[in-house]
Amino acid sequence: MKLPSCWNCEHEFKLHQLVWNVRLHCPNCKKKQFLTKESRFNTLLFSPIPVIIISIMNSLNISWLVIIPISLCLLIIFMAIAPYFYRFTDKEAPFV
Ligand SMILES: [Zn+2]
Repeated sequence: MKLPSCWNCEHEFKLHQLVWNVRLHCPNCKKKQFLTKESRFNTLLFSPIPVIIISIMNSLNISWLVIIPISLCLLIIFMAIAPYFYRFTDKEAPFV
């Protein structure tokens, strides 16, 4: 897996730059980065997974004391993986 790079100068972003800030600027050429429609769609595909896992655990009568920490871990993992699916473009794509 490869992290996305700047659409203008091919500068490769670091994971920590991508986790917290989706509307970011390239640190090298200062151009604004927009997520492509495809990459937004790809990250959307992952979002039901934690919900599904939580509902399964809930239906198995697992205590919320267990579900909450697991959900937090899933959220962290999700935030760390999602940037690998980001691709940037120079134009802001419509949301759908
Ligand atoms: Zn750049």
